[in-house]
Amino acid sequence: MELTKEKIVELLETKDDKQIEALFAEARRVREQQFGNKIFLYGFVYFSTWCRNDCTFCYYRKSNQIERYRKTPEEILRLSQELAESGVHLIDLTMGEDLSYHEEDFETVLSIIRSIKETTGLPVMISPGVVSDQQIKAFAEAGTDWYALYQETHNRDLFAKLRLDQDYDERMHAKLYAKEQGMLIEEGLMSGVGENSEDIAHSLMEMGRIGASQVRVMSFVPQAGSPMEHVKTPDRMLEMKIIALMRILYPWALIPTSLDVDGIAGLEARVNAGGNVVTSIIPPRTGLAGVAQNSMDVDDGSRTVAEAEKILESLGLQAATAEEYQKYIGELKCRKL
Ligand code: SF4
Repeated sequence: MELTKEKIVELLETKDDKQIEALFAEARRVREQQFGNKIFLYGFVYFSTWCRNDCTFCYYRKSNQIERYRKTPEEILRLSQELAESGVHLIDLTMGEDLSYHEEDFETVLSIIRSIKETTGLPVMISPGVVSDQQIKAFAEAGTDWYALYQETHNRDLFAKLRLDQDYDERMHAKLYAKEQGMLIEEGLMSGVGENSEDIAHSLMEMGRIGASQVRVMSFVPQAGSPMEHVKTPDRMLEMKIIALMRILYPWALIPTSLDVDGIAGLEARVNAGGNVVTSIIPPRTGLAGVAQNSMDVDDGSRTVAEAEKILESLGLQAATAEEYQKYIGELKCRKL
């Protein structure tokens, strides 16, 4: 299926069931050709909900009066070990732009990354927001495998409305610099935040242009106390179509099927649209929060490897092994994207 910008817009807007089903079927075919029936699993540790920014869509924006936490290094390591033992293939360390880490040049976070890699043997992804070149270099030197940083939209006007007082180019530079330093990068967009189909098509092209090895889309979910509290969450069909389009455009890409938006109940549809990484697996009853939904299925134990595996098996799919994941990201690192 050749995907020009015009064709992408047509597919994003179509309501024709047959055309939509053909899109998903093609996405699954492409995934199978590239990955067989294997799916990857990521553990998620959202270790600080403090943030200096005020993004209009976010629950953790600095002006929202909410309870916040910052986990200790010991807690983060213990959670990562628990996730590793449960069978995840990567530890995704996520934080808000917490100034206390910036002030100490991320020494604590760097030491946590080294300890996690040493004790679990798993690859690590860091999502620290925008940090300096020097800090990115230090992450790369500590052996961090992935740097995740989402533009959310590649329409600069919309970006300015979503990420108040933040610089589009600075954000883009950080991920390109991380790639230059040898890290794999993840780019992401959010659906339902005021974009149109042309904007989405442009984002999809940008993800390829910058050489992102992992590309994600998440539906906007309104957050209590934020300026976008009363904006409606979009129809999930849009997110599913974007996943399928990303799969066809970038067959090799890792594409998350995040549990953060609709919990475990949303996994099947995202996998059927062509996703191949179950993200945001969280150890139950640990007092951790999610990003898109601060409490969705977090504490009831349903965002686990065991629950995800049940669903994957019912779809004729299988969790990959940690070795298969490491081999694959090794290949991605050698690839010149
Ligand atoms: S989206 Fe990230 S950077 Fe923006 S306010 Fe939320 S935690 Fe902070």
